[in-house]
Amino acid sequence: MADGQAGRFGRLARLAMSVVALSTLLVVSNSVELSHQAHAADLPARQPLIGTARTDPPSTIQLAEQRAASLRQAARLVQTAAQQSQLQDHRSGETEQANAIQAEVDRLNNLTEFAWPTNGGVSSGFGMRKHPILGYVRLHNGADIGGACGNPIYAAQSGTVTKAGYSSSSGNNIRIDHSTINGKRVETAYLHMSKLAVRNGQRVNKGDTIGYVGTTGLSTACHLHLALYEDGSGSDPLDYLRRR
Ligand SMILES: [Zn+2]
Repeated sequence: MADGQAGRFGRLARLAMSVVALSTLLVVSNSVELSHQAHAADLPARQPLIGTARTDPPSTIQLAEQRAASLRQAARLVQTAAQQSQLQDHRSGETEQANAIQAEVDRLNNLTEFAWPTNGGVSSGFGMRKHPILGYVRLHNGADIGGACGNPIYAAQSGTVTKAGYSSSSGNNIRIDHSTINGKRVETAYLHMSKLAVRNGQRVNKGDTIGYVGTTGLSTACHLHLALYEDGSGSDPLDYLRRR
């Protein structure tokens, strides 16, 4: 029977241990619960961020949320500004391109539109004619313009002076290289001047005074003989000048 009593005692002991353990668990869990409630009571009541008066200072979380919101707003503003800036850059790029195209159009128009080189009309045009001094028919390689001795002579087009000197036939004369115009190298020459106003190698602009009307060389009276060369061949200068 001792064995039976011992067994019963053991079971009672295990039951008692279980009760103790369960009680401990209950007490612990209850205190944890109480502790949670106590902590919750310590926390300030949740308040709206905007609109009502606030007595407590905002919590760290609220400050962080406000900070994040303002950063998001700032990021949106920066993004919008960047997009507008890109649009403006794009527009100004297009404007620059349009201006460049217009400048090139103006330059080409300017190149093809020559200035009248001196006061006065055309007394003898380009073509075959009986030479007034030599007496036989040959090509008049240019146009005779004006006739008042000493009148200024202007560069018909911008370019570089490639010749400024004297010859027995051309008298005081100047040649200007206008570089390529409409695919052809164009030069103009001004003959029989009384005086030169530019030197060889000088860069001149359209309308600059380059000399004065005279009758030097093979000439019978004061006039400007204007010659024009396309790729080195004599051509009618009036094809380039605005006729008057
Ligand atoms: Zn002539």
